[in-house]
Amino acid sequence: MTGRVAIVGGGISGLSAAYYLAKAGVRPVLYEREPRLGGVILTERLEGCVLEAGPDSFLAAKPQALELIRELGLESGVIASNDHLRVTYVVKNGRLVPLPDGLMLMVPTRLRPMILSRLLGWPTKLRMGWEWFRRPRAAPAPDRSVAEFIRDHYGQEAVDYLAEPLLAGVYGGDPERLSVGSVLTRFAELEAQYGSLTRGVLAERKRARRAGRPQPLFQTLKDGLGQLVAALEAAIAGRCEVRHSEVERLEPSASGYRLLARDGHLDAAHVVLACPAYEAGRLVGALDSGLAGALGEIPYSSSLTLSLVYDRAALGHPLDGFGFLVPKRERRTLVACTWVGTKFSHRVPANLAVLRCFAGGMDHRVIEEDDATLIAQVREELRRLMGVTAEPRLARIARWPRSMAQYTVGHAARLAGIQAALERLPGLHLAGNAYTGIGISDCIRMGRQAAGRIAGKPAAGQ
Ligand SMILES: Cc1cc2nc3c(=O)[nH]c(=O)nc-3n(C[C@H](O)[C@H](O)[C@H](O)COP(=O)(O)OP(=O)(O)OC[C@H]3O[C@@H](n4cnc5c(N)ncnc54)[C@H](O)[C@@H]3O)c2cc1C
Repeated sequence: MTGRVAIVGGGISGLSAAYYLAKAGVRPVLYEREPRLGGVILTERLEGCVLEAGPDSFLAAKPQALELIRELGLESGVIASNDHLRVTYVVKNGRLVPLPDGLMLMVPTRLRPMILSRLLGWPTKLRMGWEWFRRPRAAPAPDRSVAEFIRDHYGQEAVDYLAEPLLAGVYGGDPERLSVGSVLTRFAELEAQYGSLTRGVLAERKRARRAGRPQPLFQTLKDGLGQLVAALEAAIAGRCEVRHSEVERLEPSASGYRLLARDGHLDAAHVVLACPAYEAGRLVGALDSGLAGALGEIPYSSSLTLSLVYDRAALGHPLDGFGFLVPKRERRTLVACTWVGTKFSHRVPANLAVLRCFAGGMDHRVIEEDDATLIAQVREELRRLMGVTAEPRLARIARWPRSMAQYTVGHAARLAGIQAALERLPGLHLAGNAYTGIGISDCIRMGRQAAGRIAGKPAAGQ
């Protein structure tokens, strides 16, 4: 007997845990304080456009999202990013400059496009060439910041115009604080093996080519990721009790844990905390103050998306790429902008255009600005950068306060401490973007792993 199982949080992490538990024959109780499930995943269909208020896709290289989509029977709705049209621009001196071909994140792998690029100056280009000759270190390197790591390989300009904008687009974070070991794990491993990142990435690419055909970069569902949430909701119906109530704290009880929620209490042998780490920390304060402190220390950035829908003919821009990134040195409000109809087919009717704009970061005040001010600031930047002066037909804003965990230097050591504390609390499990991956597939993996631990192994004393 597994005993009663409770899940706190109905985002993709909690929903995945619920789905895999239900599949294993365990009937969990899922708490979600909002009136809807999905967390930051929210799709709206307006004027014939599929508008994603949160994530718009998942990385094809990580298999868990696609596996779940297949199990749910949604595979026929999967589309890939239009990689043949992929150009990403970076703002440099107020202009959009394309990222050179052959970049693997911030690692150059092709000589000619790098030489011809207007994004980086000659000293950086020469340094990138020299990097090829680096040898592995004699002793393993300690964890460092992403900025320190990239500066060491390619110089400060590569931090300012490649690493910072690319990572701000994913984490909304600061490369001076993010951990290379946790954020660019593979690059840290390649450095240890080859010395040079460029040589390491090329060797890896050669192996991948030999192994099979190239994958698209991103995949998603034609009708939006909200479809995944709806399918999960349908799949767990009758096999999981969903309570729309906020859990306020956990206490020890005879059966393991007592959850005190707004709508009453529940005793459970297993609890999956699939809410943000600072929230998990608040909930476990009475169980283990050390664990509560470690969870509460994981910083989060806030983010905001603003989708602007235009008449295509009025836009006056070719939208010849996936969009652009704004480095911190050039940033006002906008952090990035995706040209949705170019990145994905089926999402925008031919007569319309959608610009999906991102703002936010570690300065949480940005997303608190009122709608009218934000829209005016973003439209002014779109005028300056893209020459867009047309009036949008529609503007949708979604605010996600403290939604993106930051894996800062020392993250792996902090996780080890959290793991050690969990060993002392049998039946308590964590899942979510604060731990071993920020993307949708990572969250599905963590929800699934928690379910596997519970369904496969009874808690102590059960
Ligand atoms: C704007 C944006 C764009 C993104 N883009 C991408 C992308 O394109 N691809 C990608 O792979 N990833 C992307 N991500 C990251 C990814 O979407 C998230 O990491 C992931 O969805 C987080 O899921 P989660 O279930 O862990 O957390 P959440 O979605 O935050 O869900 C947590 C849930 O817990 C609930 N909750 C919290 N406390 C309590 C409590 N005490 N009691 C009851 N309920 C509680 C909350 O209401 C919430 O619903 C993006 C994230 C954002 C914000």
